[in-house]
Amino acid sequence: MRPQDILMPVPAGLCCKPGGFHIDPVRPVERAVITHGHSDHARSGHGAVLATQETLDMMRLRYGDNFAGRTQAIAYGEQIKLGDVSIKFHPAGHVLGSAQIAVSCRDTCIVASGDYKDAPDPTCAPFEVVRCDVFITEATFGLPVFRHGPADDEIKKLLASVALFPERAHLVGAYSLGKAQRVIALIRAAGYDAPIYLHGAMEKITRYYESRGVALGELRLVRGVKKSDLAGTITLAPPSATSDIWTRRFPDPVTAFASGWMRVRARARQRGVELPLVISDHADWDGLTATIDATGAGEIWVTHGQEDALVHWRKAKGLTARPLDLVGYGDEDEGDGMPAGEDAEA
Ligand SMILES: [Zn+2]
Repeated sequence: MRPQDILMPVPAGLCCKPGGFHIDPVRPVERAVITHGHSDHARSGHGAVLATQETLDMMRLRYGDNFAGRTQAIAYGEQIKLGDVSIKFHPAGHVLGSAQIAVSCRDTCIVASGDYKDAPDPTCAPFEVVRCDVFITEATFGLPVFRHGPADDEIKKLLASVALFPERAHLVGAYSLGKAQRVIALIRAAGYDAPIYLHGAMEKITRYYESRGVALGELRLVRGVKKSDLAGTITLAPPSATSDIWTRRFPDPVTAFASGWMRVRARARQRGVELPLVISDHADWDGLTATIDATGAGEIWVTHGQEDALVHWRKAKGLTARPLDLVGYGDEDEGDGMPAGEDAEA
């Protein structure tokens, strides 16, 4: 069976005709299979949603109880038959509950990896390499210039700055789902045990992470805390909040931003970020290319991001690669090429 007879891009997203479902549809569909909870992948209004329990819970937190007609949870490693295909979920290492979806039909296996990273993350299950015939890869950081160093080194920079400026507050912009909790866990792993403050918009999802067993130490809401009491502290906030009037409640704040985009110094300057922290929840160029090779896939389909360089790299090796013209990803969370919204997830 040809791979494109199993999965094909349509305006609503990636459609599996023989299985009767769409993966991460951007429009309401009868049956959606969803990789993870970020809002450009997980939208409300579908007839039925199949996803990990964590992704379903995050959708419920974000959209309310009636976000879909019906829901079904699937665990990593579990196999389910849908129509003429079988699907299996594997960890994607991107955020809590994130999954790659392996779609098998007769002797052909296609893996739709959603967003993924191969770097360690204490807040979610590690990425698993799945051997397949066709690997669908994201390309958010699909250029050789994007090489993210160890996140621990970035956390050291942050803690050094906190030690250096005890009279100032440190405000760390981080996307609310995934990045914020990872940054907190990394700060704890580096030995910082003072309370960490949260912008109110992050409370629900962060408490949800804790309820799933992710230890984050003592967290306090910044609301109602006296300005002078915030000297020498660290606060996590959505990126948009770190550049608005909200920051006036902090004493002489040092503005940091945790994102893969901080690799581009001009971006940091543009945003007025004093302390850029290159911490990404997406694979960098080395991660993308190593992962693609490891899957053993004879063919790759490249989507959301910088498709061209990966397609070219792959073709230069004499292998099949093509860009998937999927639209609608990055509108809310990720931006194409650069975060469009202030809360860009990267
Ligand atoms: Zn994502």
